[in-house]
Amino acid sequence: MRYYSTNNTDTRVTLEHAVIKGLAEDNGLYMPEFIDKFDKSFFEEIGNLSFQEIAFEVAKKFFGDDVEYDELKALVYDAINFDCPVIAVNDNIYSLELFHGPTLAFKDVGARFMARLLAYFLKQNDEIVHVLVATSGDTGSAVANGFLDVEGIQVHVLYPKGKVSAIQESQFTTLGQNITSLEIDGTFDDCQRLVKSAFLDEQLNGRLTLTSANSINVARFLPQAFYYFNAFARNPQKDKNLVISVPSGNFGNLTAGLFAKRMGLPISRFIAANNRNDIVYNYLKTGKYAPKASVQTIANAMDVGDPSNFVRILDLYEHSHSRITAHIEGYTYTDQQIRDTIKHVYQKHNYLLDPHGACGYQSLQEGLKENETGIFLETAHPAKFTETVEEVVGKGNVPIPEKLAEFMKGKKKSIALSNEFNEFKEYLNKL
Ligand SMILES: *Cc1c(COP(=O)(O)O)cnc(C)c1O
Repeated sequence: MRYYSTNNTDTRVTLEHAVIKGLAEDNGLYMPEFIDKFDKSFFEEIGNLSFQEIAFEVAKKFFGDDVEYDELKALVYDAINFDCPVIAVNDNIYSLELFHGPTLAFKDVGARFMARLLAYFLKQNDEIVHVLVATSGDTGSAVANGFLDVEGIQVHVLYPKGKVSAIQESQFTTLGQNITSLEIDGTFDDCQRLVKSAFLDEQLNGRLTLTSANSINVARFLPQAFYYFNAFARNPQKDKNLVISVPSGNFGNLTAGLFAKRMGLPISRFIAANNRNDIVYNYLKTGKYAPKASVQTIANAMDVGDPSNFVRILDLYEHSHSRITAHIEGYTYTDQQIRDTIKHVYQKHNYLLDPHGACGYQSLQEGLKENETGIFLETAHPAKFTETVEEVVGKGNVPIPEKLAEFMKGKKKSIALSNEFNEFKEYLNKL
C-alpha cells in the first residue's frame, strides 16, 4: 500500500517512509491510497471473534501488503494485550471502555502498535531512531509506555516543569530503560517549539534519525479503527441502527472511525462530542472552518483550537460539507454541563464517567432517535482525573486502579533543561 499527502494527492510513499517520517515533506498528512472493504459475511461472523482476532483482520487490510502475515499477527497480538469491552450504562447507551491498557487511556492502542511497527522496520536496517515527544500530560505517558523496552528506539519526553499532574508525571519519569524525561523550564508550547526546531535542524538530522509519535502518524491513528469493529461485534442491540459518539480533540480517533465505516462497518452515523473548543462543531453548522486559540477546560485532552486530523476528514469526503454532515453531527459542552453529566450518570446509573467520556454520553442522551442504539468512547479512566471527578461525586468515590497506583510508587528521574534550543541541541548531540 502506498500513501499520499493531503497536500499533494500525486505523492506516493511506502508505509515505512510514512511511519518513520510521520508528517509529509510538504507538511500534509499521509493517507492510504485505497481503503479495502470487508465482505458482508465478515459482519455476520464478527461476533464469534475475539478483539485480537478482529484487530488482526483489520490490520491485514491496512498493513497486509507491507508486513509478512506471521510478523503482523505477532505484532497485533503483542500490541493489543488488553480488552476494550462494551458496558451498558442505561437501556440504549453503552460505553466502549478504552482504558484497560497500561496508561488507562485509548492512546495506548495506537502508541503500542506504532512502537512495534517502527521496531519491525528498524530491525531490517539496524538503525536507531530517536522519538521526540512534547507532552502536556497524556500523550507522553502513552508513548513512553508503548515504546518501553522496544529495541532500536530511544524516547525523549519533553514536559513543562510543574504543569503536569503528579500521576501524569509519574507515568513517564519512573520508567527508565530507553525512556528519558526532560523537564523543561517553560510551557507546553516551549516543549513543542524545541521538538519542531530539532526536526528542522540540518546538523542534528545529519547525525540522528529523529521522528515524532503523535496522531498525525498513520501507524498511530489507523489502528484505532480496531476497536470500532470490536464495538460493533459486542453490541447487544444489533437490530437497531448504531450511532457512535467520539469525544474529540485532534480528531484522530473520529477519523479512524470514519475509516472503519468506509471499510463497510455498519455504523449509521457518528457524533463528534466537544468541550467548549467548538471549531469542528461550528464547521458542521456553518461549513466554515475557523481555527482559534484553545480554551482550557476540565476535559483537557480535548483542548485543541486547530485539530490536526481535520484535513484527513476533508480529504476523505472530498471537501464536501454536505457529505460530511450526512455522517457526523456535532455537540459541544461547557465544564458545568460535563460536571452535571458525571453526577447524574453516577447517581442514576452507578457508572463513573471521566470528563471526556461524559461529553460522549451526553450527546447520545440528547441525540439518539427511536430505533437507534448508542455507544460512546470512554477514552480514559476517571481516576486519571481524580480531582475533577471527586469534586463532583465526593471524596473517596473514585477507586484508583492498581496499575495507576504502581506508577506513583516509582522513583522520578528527569533531566532539567531550560527552554533554550541550544541547550536541547547540546543534549541531543551528546547521544
Ligand atoms: C487524546 C484524548 C482525546 C482526544 O482524542 P483525539 O483523537 O485527539 O480527538 C479524548 N480523550 C482523552 C482522554 C484523550 O487522551
